[in-house]
Amino acid sequence: MKEIVLIKNGEIALKGLNRRSFEDQLIRNMKRRLQPLGHFKIHNAQSTLCVEPLEEGIDLDEAVCRLQKVFGIAALCRALSVPKDFAVIKQEGPRYLAGILNNVRTFKVEAKRSDKSFPMKSPEICREFGGVLLEAFPHLRVDVRHPDVTVMVEIRDFNAYIHAGSLPGAGGIPVGTGGKALLLISGGIDSPVAGYMMSKRGLSLHAVHFVSPPYTSGRAREKVETLCEKMAAYCGTITFHCVPFTEIQEAIRDHCPEELFTIIMRRLMMKIAQRIAAEEGALALVTGESMGQVASQTLSAIVCTDDVCEMPVLRPVIGMDKGEIVAIARKIDTFETSILPYEDCCTVFTPKHPRTRPKLEAVRAAEAQFDFAPMLEEAIRNTERLIKEAEE
Ligand code: ATP
Ligand code: MG
Repeated sequence: MKEIVLIKNGEIALKGLNRRSFEDQLIRNMKRRLQPLGHFKIHNAQSTLCVEPLEEGIDLDEAVCRLQKVFGIAALCRALSVPKDFAVIKQEGPRYLAGILNNVRTFKVEAKRSDKSFPMKSPEICREFGGVLLEAFPHLRVDVRHPDVTVMVEIRDFNAYIHAGSLPGAGGIPVGTGGKALLLISGGIDSPVAGYMMSKRGLSLHAVHFVSPPYTSGRAREKVETLCEKMAAYCGTITFHCVPFTEIQEAIRDHCPEELFTIIMRRLMMKIAQRIAAEEGALALVTGESMGQVASQTLSAIVCTDDVCEMPVLRPVIGMDKGEIVAIARKIDTFETSILPYEDCCTVFTPKHPRTRPKLEAVRAAEAQFDFAPMLEEAIRNTERLIKEAEE
């Protein structure tokens, strides 16, 4: 008899022949997040994963909290695992459920019997176990339509499980099943959300951040590293690349027309990012651009940016309003960090009147006025590479 966590995986169930590899990746991702809490065994119990602590005193609340951030899990619940013997279920069930049932007024019992050799059928389990609970908790009433709590009895291959309903999981598909992408991360609200969204669809992430000291401070960079650590609770390990960008920005300032500063800077960022992506085996870039949010995110500006991109640029928040992006940032706990008031290199030398409808030919011609190539090489050479893990 032991408390465990049951995992209902979501879309993986639809994956047909690939199902096995998705499930294996999910289990690896779960183990990585649980490992600091102690030893667990994870095994498959008929389309449901069962997470079993192998040590005394493991913090299951924390385990559930961590698992709620692992993509590929639709729902999860703490449950009591007992032998498949109704006498034991009757005896142990009320004790296990007391904490919950003492605080509600109505309940119902549902049973799921995937082991068809179990001698009682589902309606009988519900009826009998419901009776046991009514006797143990005389304040309770049965309400089959709108119960405060639905008690589940699941009879599976090796064990029976008793629980009182599930919690939502993070959804999505397991990180690492969809290849690698490189996120351009600023200290803002949007790019961490963009990274989270692509990770949710199974991509593992690298992140690149451009810094321009002394115009941008060490604290601004630390803020971005903190954002990566917060994202890593969902996205798994993130390899962080920090690119020194000061010289390039100064060269743009000195050699390009002011109203095109931002757009040229963004093109050069993309060029560097693609090189890093290629070196790391990432197949796409990810940005936090949202259509029309600022001058560099109009459709014409995006045409100019994408002109230098040979790999796909994924922009998952492109059609979202700020409020919608903020809601996700709050949910994933990056918002409070993102709004810390440190400078970003994008706000260094910002033109007073940036072009909102830049013409591609004009941008290309302006950029060609100066040979940026050696500086780009130098920046790539001096890029720092760090591994970011979730805060323990
Ligand atoms: P965010 O909230 O992500 O900062 P934003 O709305 O402030 O986005 P911009 O500052 O124009 O918009 O940046 C657009 C996108 O460019 C960002 O979402 C990010 O992907 C990328 N970006 C901006 N600044 C940097 C930087 N210093 N390093 C890496 N990528 C950056
Ligand atoms: Mg920004």
